[in-house]
Amino acid sequence: MSMNIAGLQKVSTIDYPGEISCIVFLHGCNFRCGFCYNPDLVLREACEGFSQEYFFDFLKKRKGKLDAVCITGGEPLITLDLEFVKKIKELGFKVKIDTNGSFPDKLKELIDNKLIDYIAMDIKSSREFYARAAGIPVDISKIERSIKLVHDFKNSEFRTTIVKRFHDEKVMRELGKWVKKICGEKSSQIFLQGFRKNEEGMIDMDFLKEQNVSEKYLEEMREVIKNYFCEVGVRC
Ligand code: SF4
Repeated sequence: MSMNIAGLQKVSTIDYPGEISCIVFLHGCNFRCGFCYNPDLVLREACEGFSQEYFFDFLKKRKGKLDAVCITGGEPLITLDLEFVKKIKELGFKVKIDTNGSFPDKLKELIDNKLIDYIAMDIKSSREFYARAAGIPVDISKIERSIKLVHDFKNSEFRTTIVKRFHDEKVMRELGKWVKKICGEKSSQIFLQGFRKNEEGMIDMDFLKEQNVSEKYLEEMREVIKNYFCEVGVRC
């Protein structure tokens, strides 16, 4: 059965750096980050959504108006069909993929086939505390392979959602050291984004008790890791 699309945001000026894009949402995720604000999408096992035919009709009409397609989830590499990406590229659009780094083989296949133009990868925590942030046991070797692929790809960014119960100075320092060691040098850029509670739904509603993260706290975490990356941005 061909891949269905769970959701479509028809225009975004912020998701693909410097480009006007649309966003395709694919359902399902192998992680269970308690703070995830999109449980409906993540926990969905099947997706009626809408068809690729509908999407490509839309995309053909947006030629000259949109530059890029951002593919996100959930974790898009679980269900992403490479033929779908090939068709987007054939229409002349750039492609950005968001990933949690669990599927390095599929990521490599996309890179090797020149099907992606930009990658954004979440780094959930330091090596030691990765599973705590992801909410499930994690095969850390896959995360490490993805970090290296994303770093070597260059047109890419890492992102960490900072949650006070998970990320303090010690954890962030370990995260920075770990990523630099895998990359063999400072990696180009990482963005720290502050946790914001979502009253309408999170995977673990206990996170309603968690404080939203202030800009000041993000700046403190930035100070801790700035020596391990060429650029550390904060997104409140
Ligand atoms: S925040 Fe976690 S659970 Fe939610 S989509 Fe991302 S990796 Fe999956």
